[in-house]
Amino acid sequence: MTIIDTHVHLGKSKFSGVESHEADILNAMDRHGVTTSLVMPQPTLDDVRDVHTRIGAMAKQYPGRIYGMASIDPWWDAQQYHEEVKRCVEDMGFVALKLHPLGHNVSPLSPICDKVYEAAAEYGVPVLVHTGTGNPFALPSLLLDAAKRFPSVSFILCHAGFAVYTDEAIVAAKYADNIYLEPSWCPTYTIVKMVKEVGIEKIIMGSDHISNLPVELTKFNHIGLSQEQLDMIFSENPKRIFKLKP
Ligand SMILES: [Zn+2]
Repeated sequence: MTIIDTHVHLGKSKFSGVESHEADILNAMDRHGVTTSLVMPQPTLDDVRDVHTRIGAMAKQYPGRIYGMASIDPWWDAQQYHEEVKRCVEDMGFVALKLHPLGHNVSPLSPICDKVYEAAAEYGVPVLVHTGTGNPFALPSLLLDAAKRFPSVSFILCHAGFAVYTDEAIVAAKYADNIYLEPSWCPTYTIVKMVKEVGIEKIIMGSDHISNLPVELTKFNHIGLSQEQLDMIFSENPKRIFKLKP
């Protein structure tokens, strides 16, 4: 069975202090039967360009097994931001952009975030948005505005509201065709609710922390989903949303 982990970090988090290296990611994938990981920098004090370069090298060494995602601070000026997106997507084949309202200290409604959405539209890649911790900037409903203004862009609500704001994430995904949910850290019963309210085709799996990977897999495997539904969450949905090549 193909399993795609859509939320993996390389490097050191400025919040948790947790650091993961290339070998940690590859070992965890082997241990837990993960076929493909989508890897991005942490919210970090390190230079994200360097982390992107490391991720690009991983993707080159493990084609189809590792894909990169760029996490660039929208407070960078437009030209710098755009140059780094271009380097990541065109030169290194990255498949998504990340916006971290807590890590980047910005509301998704701020005009400075338009450069994120515009770049995503230009390059045809989805935007992952951290949600749930770091409110009010991380409230899931704030993405409704961008989703309506940029209908060609897919928006993934990482952590789907992070347990406490899951209902709000459900409402956002229910009323915008281009909003998807990645429910890491959410309780099992809320994932059942997401599947029922939002639809199986809008749910994907992400681990966020290496030690949390088996937990997220276990959650999905024990909430009464059929093999076909699991295949959509673990494989078919991320392939379609991130336009991964077979
Ligand atoms: Zn994360």
